Amino acid sequence: MWNDLSANLKYSGIYLKEIILLDSVVILIILLLEERIYITLPLAFLILLFSLIFLSLIGKKRSTELSEIKEIIKHIRENYYSGPEEINLSTGLSSLQEEIRRMFEKAKADIEYLKKLEKMRTEFLANVSHELRTPIFAIQGYIETLLSGAINDEKVNKTFLEKADRHTLNLNNLLNDLIDISRIESGEMRMSFRYFNINEALRTVVQEFEPMASEKKISLLFHPGKENLQLWGDKQRLRLVIVNLLTNAIKYTEEGTVEVFVEDGPKYGKIIVKDTGIGIPADDLDRIFERFYRVDKGRSRLVGGTGLGLAIVKHIVEAHGSKVEVKSEPGKGSEFSFKLRK
Ligand code: ADP
Repeated sequence: MWNDLSANLKYSGIYLKEIILLDSVVILIILLLEERIYITLPLAFLILLFSLIFLSLIGKKRSTELSEIKEIIKHIRENYYSGPEEINLSTGLSSLQEEIRRMFEKAKADIEYLKKLEKMRTEFLANVSHELRTPIFAIQGYIETLLSGAINDEKVNKTFLEKADRHTLNLNNLLNDLIDISRIESGEMRMSFRYFNINEALRTVVQEFEPMASEKKISLLFHPGKENLQLWGDKQRLRLVIVNLLTNAIKYTEEGTVEVFVEDGPKYGKIIVKDTGIGIPADDLDRIFERFYRVDKGRSRLVGGTGLGLAIVKHIVEAHGSKVEVKSEPGKGSEFSFKLRK
């Protein structure tokens, strides 16, 4: 019994000072009111005894609660629980139970997020290595063939050099896109938002694409919006968005037109890049914004694609609090659009 008492008192020891203070005050009051010592002494003794029993009861309760909490923490550490509802404490600890459940949920979500990031990082690295290997191997192959005699073969030497040159171009595109995407994703690419004249900004980019379009005999048309329409955004980054959308529109169109529209709405201006190209199958529409996702890998590489263009577009447009919409029909064409605040 004494062992139990002293073990329990260990847990209620933190209240000892308060109990001693209370007992002293009570005993002092009794002493002042009752002068007969043979009554006061046993009373004081009884008060002390009750205090001890009281402390022991509190200690017992605390020790049970603490071991309950310890057990829960141990189970969390050992990944014993699969869901927060499995964490249960006795009724007196219900508010703590709620807090622990919330902490458990948060920790679980954080761990899952970190695992996902780690998986994405590994996949990204694997993709980058694969993407780099393809042009490097091709260039290496052409150079080796040329060195081992093909250089003197008038029928193939120029073609091989041209092919090697096209792969260096792909390599260069890939490195540029990788630099952009890593700057965006690391948060290094700071946005600088202000109002700018959307018609002027788009006209300049469209003009730059005229040689590329006329080389493929595609008509490139620009339909400006309301005169002097000012939209809110980072002009430089949005330029990259339009460059990527126009590059794709021209790359994936064999004949017909590529058009850029500016539409004026009450609160937003809408920018549309529309082509009459090969289109995108419905099943692929959700995935084309993923890094390195291409509908047709061979075709994308052939036209100098990196598989990163639309991922960059998505990041930048989302940083403007907007979303890229896409409509497409295989064989008929595609339409990419997004809104900007007025
Ligand atoms: P890529 O460098 O391969 O063009 P993107 O990220 O820009 O990579 O685009 C991803 C894929 O989406 C492309 O490989 C292509 O299959 C498809 N795509 C993008 N834009 C168009 C378009 N205007 N018309 C048809 N397909 C497109």
